[in-house]
Amino acid sequence: MKLVAHGSPSVLEAELLDRVATVKSGDPLSSILIVVPTRRLAEHVMRRLVERFGSILGVEVLHHRALAERVLETTGAGDRRVLDDDLLVTLFASVVDRAAPGPLREFVRELPGASSALLATLTDLREAGIEPDAVTATLTGLEAETASLYARWSRALNELAESGRAVDDAGLAAAATAGAPAFASRFSAIWHHGAYDLIGVHVELLRALDRGRELSFFLPADPVDASGAFGIDRALTFAGSHDPPVRLDREATPAPVVFSHAQGASVELTTAAYEALAAVAAGTPPHEVAIVVRSFGPFAAALDALLDAGWTRWHTSYKRPMRRDPAAAKALRAIASGPDRGVRRFGGHAEAFEEIARAAGGAGKLEPLLGAMKDVESVLGDDRAVSRSEALAWLQARADAATVLPDGAEGAGVRILDAMQARGLTFAELNLLGMNAGIFPRVGRETAFLGEGSRLRLREATGRPLPIASEAGGEEHLLLATILGAARDRLRVSWRRADESARPLVPSLALREIVRFAKPGADADAVLHEARPLPAHPRLRLAAWAQRPGLLDPRDETLLAALASEIGADAGRSVVARRPELASGAALVAETETFMPVNGRFDGRTGASALGGKIAATAFERLGRCPLQFFFRDVLRVPAPRTPDTPFEVDNATTGSRVHEALHTVYARLRREGLFATEDVGARVARARAILREAWPAAARGDDTARAERLPVLSRIEAARWITTLDAFLDADLRRLEDEGLVPETLEHDDTGTIPGGPPGLSIRARFDRVSRGASSAVVADYKTGGDLAARVKPAAMLSGAALQVPIYALLSGSPVELLGVGPGHDPGSDVARFDGFKSDDQRLGVLETLRVLTGLAEAGRFPIRPGDHCAWCDYRSACRHGHPPTVFRESHARDVADARDCWSKTAKAPSLAAVRQGRRS
Ligand code: SF4
Repeated sequence: MKLVAHGSPSVLEAELLDRVATVKSGDPLSSILIVVPTRRLAEHVMRRLVERFGSILGVEVLHHRALAERVLETTGAGDRRVLDDDLLVTLFASVVDRAAPGPLREFVRELPGASSALLATLTDLREAGIEPDAVTATLTGLEAETASLYARWSRALNELAESGRAVDDAGLAAAATAGAPAFASRFSAIWHHGAYDLIGVHVELLRALDRGRELSFFLPADPVDASGAFGIDRALTFAGSHDPPVRLDREATPAPVVFSHAQGASVELTTAAYEALAAVAAGTPPHEVAIVVRSFGPFAAALDALLDAGWTRWHTSYKRPMRRDPAAAKALRAIASGPDRGVRRFGGHAEAFEEIARAAGGAGKLEPLLGAMKDVESVLGDDRAVSRSEALAWLQARADAATVLPDGAEGAGVRILDAMQARGLTFAELNLLGMNAGIFPRVGRETAFLGEGSRLRLREATGRPLPIASEAGGEEHLLLATILGAARDRLRVSWRRADESARPLVPSLALREIVRFAKPGADADAVLHEARPLPAHPRLRLAAWAQRPGLLDPRDETLLAALASEIGADAGRSVVARRPELASGAALVAETETFMPVNGRFDGRTGASALGGKIAATAFERLGRCPLQFFFRDVLRVPAPRTPDTPFEVDNATTGSRVHEALHTVYARLRREGLFATEDVGARVARARAILREAWPAAARGDDTARAERLPVLSRIEAARWITTLDAFLDADLRRLEDEGLVPETLEHDDTGTIPGGPPGLSIRARFDRVSRGASSAVVADYKTGGDLAARVKPAAMLSGAALQVPIYALLSGSPVELLGVGPGHDPGSDVARFDGFKSDDQRLGVLETLRVLTGLAEAGRFPIRPGDHCAWCDYRSACRHGHPPTVFRESHARDVADARDCWSKTAKAPSLAAVRQGRRS
């Protein structure tokens, strides 16, 4: 085998085409074989041949699997079914199940992720062509079980191959080796192109070809540069040669490089996309332009957005989860909820699932999976009759693992490729993205089931090329050099200076290597310092793209038009000219951005009554606190978010309900058991505490139970804290009731009625937590688990509508009202806040006036904002313009809500609208 090396894939490609020309000029009928590592590269080489020669006969371009299949075909071995991932994983699971018990077996059976990692390790061994006996002889201790599983796995694959039903990739290559010399002898020339490393079974196949016709291996590695060391070393090993490779005597001019950095993967990718499309617009064919990333991981969300936008076509190696495909997801849902028709073989279940998928419109998407399910029976020979749930579990597990190319991803268009798929390809323009630390170069990681030391020992013992994680640095070095050499005319390199949340990210150290490649002798720091910074600000960024490369998609172009003006309203006309469907949105911006009076349609003015003659006291209190909050919650019925900020916090509303229910149980049982009739308050407290210990767990709801399972220790600590707190409350509350001669009469008492002198005809519903009766009167009580109780009984808060619950309860019941602080959330020093009645008739009339004004607002369908301290804990603040100066200005001058606004200014000294207005005039 001859090794021909050069650091530039473009040079190697040119050499390859020249050699084809030379052979064909000597004998046009001669046969040539070009072997490449991937199907993508095979298509690329064919395109280059056609570009250079037009039509050309007698040149076969085969990737490794196709080569093995062709060799076997010529030996008459017939077609071999190659196992795909679904069948490999299924077969491996059955091998593990049948293996002798051991810690490794139990571990992988319990953890599906571990199973796939172990399968990858065993695949490394098999692809390296290492016999099970050698593995068994080398591995000891805990890894002896790995060797044993490898022996079982190899035996299972070999038996399957011997049955003629299917073969794995390594088995296919191994089977073709015997016929390879005869196959090779039919060709005048054989070249291997585009790979710097080979797995063991492919080494054997190439060596066998070489025995039939000398093979030249085109090695993309520079023999005189450090970047090529990994490739040269590996090639000498697999070629079995001590002679240095022949370095091609062709000069390669590095493409000019420009550097840029961005905030966020989306901006980085979009910049590259615009640059690529600008190159196409300037006349470069789409297949000559590429965007290359080391890994799609950091760009997945940005790629989904780019591909889904659909404004142009891309050719990509990016795959996304099958479940993300709407048709596949719908079909899987339909299958999951389909009828159970009893036990069947896997093939029978697959046919039934196929029928359901067809009816759901997703049969095409699930075809590979359902085909594999049939093959579990026909290829793997698993002909058991299994339940529907077992077949469904198989399908769901494989669907979870399945990835698919986006629609149209293999057609024409600019290339978006991961670095491994880009190996050997050449382009006129190449955009290399994601040059950040930890991404490129990728950090090699040791596998859990076969340590580095064991791998090295196996490699030394067998001479087989088993991958070693510690050598990943050399490979990454070479991979980068290969990509840099793949661009002929222009290379753009970018990195993220920060992520989407503006957290700084570290650029890759390999950027210095790129500077050395692009500008030998230049100061790397200075070059990188001059890199183009893509602005983080949306308008500046759009303007930067518009300037260079001078391209924006319709959406971004519209956005730039919208942002071009400091005042959104000014941009409305140009936005609507581009996107007429946004006319109502533009009108909203125009009306909300103005300081002038408007008709209020975007300021919570619906013009329709929200009351219908009745209202709950809690809703009325919300209306008083802020009409817009009332609108969100009680008119639009937008539920308040229940999720706490962190998984360690409890939802306040859930806790409040639990406290109310537990206390209700305690007082109800004390009443039923007649304990308020006894004089021994100590016994009453003791019994109350005993009941509490049953009532508290019984009051737990779904959220509490789920959280207790998730965070058992934290939940136990919190429960103990609540029990202690409620113990203290019960002690204080029961003694106070005793001292004041009060006995709970009704609990959770519903009351409905109108308020004399209040809003005429408006029925108000209230639920009193507790009504206690004494010798002379009743007292209404309400439990509060948070907040400043004293502030809620201040006259100013009642008069201004900021706190209406207490006066409404008092006016409805005609009794004093007390707020009882329960738990650690209410402000210290205010365990009980009591309201015995209005201090003056003026204040009573003032509150009634406020109630009437607020009712008028709701009946007229006017819901202005009422900004204040309460906005800090408002559930709707993200949807509200309380911090928007034009809105605040308009509302502070709106005539249709002038009465409400003046009510909000009421105080104990100015309890009426007249007093407020008088005070303003004087
Ligand atoms: S944020 Fe403030 S002004 Fe806006 S709805 Fe909530 S309470 Fe009202």
